[in-house]
Amino acid sequence: MEPAVTSRYFILGASRSGSSIVELALADLTSATALGEVRWVYKRGIQDNDICGCGQDFADCDFWQGTITEDVRENAKDLDHLRATFDNPLKLFAAKYGAVIAPRLAKDYSAYTAELRRLYASIDAACDGPIIDNSKRPYYSIAVADALCTDVGNLVFVHVVRNSIDVVRSWANSKVREESQSKEMMPSYCAAKAIVFWTIYVFSQLLIRLYFLRKSHFYLSFDDLKAASGQLSVSIDGVTQDVALGEMYLDKVDYHSVSGNPDRSRWAGGVSVRPSKARSKTIKEWIWYIPLSPALLANAVLKALCRSSLPISSGASQGS
Ligand SMILES: [Zn+2]
Repeated sequence: MEPAVTSRYFILGASRSGSSIVELALADLTSATALGEVRWVYKRGIQDNDICGCGQDFADCDFWQGTITEDVRENAKDLDHLRATFDNPLKLFAAKYGAVIAPRLAKDYSAYTAELRRLYASIDAACDGPIIDNSKRPYYSIAVADALCTDVGNLVFVHVVRNSIDVVRSWANSKVREESQSKEMMPSYCAAKAIVFWTIYVFSQLLIRLYFLRKSHFYLSFDDLKAASGQLSVSIDGVTQDVALGEMYLDKVDYHSVSGNPDRSRWAGGVSVRPSKARSKTIKEWIWYIPLSPALLANAVLKALCRSSLPISSGASQGS
């Protein structure tokens, strides 16, 4: 029996969760076009002319130039304003459920979802096959699901969960956004703030998964990916495939990332996905740094909730 055709994968997760590596692995597995963070197309793509994943400036990339219409180019500022408005969960929910008290927001929301519908239709037309959107932000996924509700069966939401300690440690370091023309810094947070943000982020995804995206989702654990030695078994649409770990080469995949992959220039020509080194020392350091870390607690709860439904298993496929 032919597997169900999936045309769009949406990656959800906190930033610095390993989503770019997962995006590349998925592109490799599915022959999909990896598009990075599509939600930034109006700001970082059209307005700021950031470097595309293919290595060209956004304005010189044939893929995006063939996808973005003149009308969208001219209205990029207003469209990004809509994006920013509905990245705010309070405004998103007011627009969805409070049309009577917030008619203006509800009107803007229907304009936004209409624009998203149009954007993804022109992306589909430009791509020969499935796409991967690494927008990550959970509230954006609700707008996308509303925009594309007519083919929700063709949407798969991939929740990338990395252990809280590594994410929070990464957030505490400042990092350059390599693809930006101005080489701007990614936001960095003090440890306490990072823990609070991570916890809100992961739990909001969990709630969104439970209430909005019930049918089409699966989890990928970045840590399982890193811990596996040699091979992983991944189930997509009920079809299990083996993924060999080692070198993954960017030239194997169509890659037109709008944003969100600051390391990609370093990856050009090959990226290595290998088992993690023993992490006991870093965990100990972290516990010493923040006793009774709420991130540890949140991570433990999340693991307990998700573990049973994790369709990715580490190690060679056991055939059981
Ligand atoms: Zn490109």
